Amino acid sequence: MAKIGFIGLGNMGGPMASNLIKAGHQVAVFDLSEAACKQLADVGAAVAEDTAAACENADYVISMLPAGKHVAGIYLGDQGLLAKLDTQTTVLDCSTIDAETARKVGEAAATLGIGFMDSPVSGGVAAAAAGSLAFMCGGDATTFEKARVILADMGKNIFHAGPAGAGQVAKACNNMLLAIHMIGTCEALEMGARNGLDPKVLSDIMLASSGRNWSLEVYNPWPEVMENAPASKGYKPGFMVDLMVKDLGLAMEVADGCGVDNAMGQLARKLYEGHQDAGNGQRDFSSILERLKQD
Ligand code: NAD
Repeated sequence: MAKIGFIGLGNMGGPMASNLIKAGHQVAVFDLSEAACKQLADVGAAVAEDTAAACENADYVISMLPAGKHVAGIYLGDQGLLAKLDTQTTVLDCSTIDAETARKVGEAAATLGIGFMDSPVSGGVAAAAAGSLAFMCGGDATTFEKARVILADMGKNIFHAGPAGAGQVAKACNNMLLAIHMIGTCEALEMGARNGLDPKVLSDIMLASSGRNWSLEVYNPWPEVMENAPASKGYKPGFMVDLMVKDLGLAMEVADGCGVDNAMGQLARKLYEGHQDAGNGQRDFSSILERLKQD
């Protein structure tokens, strides 16, 4: 059993912290939202009065926050968490943020002798609840070994992507590719349908052919083709367009930083931003199919 301080109890952090409690760990939590803290108190967490109190004497600190500014805000500076932690503590930031902030926090932690690992996740709210997230980790090998033990209580696949920041780079690469194949899958299905093909039959054909991809296989964007996909539930998320736009922005920063001409990624970002501007930010990202229905 480990002593864990968990910061950020939103859609993802809440069920993740809950799974740590179920696994028998002693978990102290903090979130700016009292309602979020109360939910965790109901399943056995100790609610702390602030971030530092939640992490006092913790073996592990885990954060699941919206963006880089929140992560830098809690960890860095004279009053930040890193300045208050023991060198025995291992810090795991599971938020999806820019790689540069992750590297900055990683460097600040290393200077103080604290193990830090950026550990963003893939899988969404359902996987967070089921404890089946994928973690992509950036940090040194010793910290990864310590991290793996705890991450295994929240996820199924745990990868060591490389040094600090590498987890965020892996996440940006993956989600850029996800956006591209989702849009491509929608275009292929719409083309087939307008030529009289049944989208279910066309999906089966492409699944057995070289167009096979994750969007087609487990997240078909065409309503009623796949019973449990968001497309068959009015595009209730799932994974929101707002979050996809955020992740594509992070991917553009990674591409710009290394000079890759990611023309497809840029186009995917533009299309998702247009879809967001049209009022679809809170809908599932597979609703990008509807862009093709407007002509
Ligand atoms: P969320 O907005 O539901 O939760 C964020 C929580 O952080 C909120 O409860 C908020 O009150 C809290 N918070 C913000 N600043 C704080 C501070 N200074 N101290 C304490 N608490 C603070 O977001 P989410 O959906 O849980 O996502 C969290 C992260 O996970 C994001 O980076 C997101 O991109 C990533 N992610 C989300 C999904 C998804 O499907 N929701 C999937 C993969 C990754």
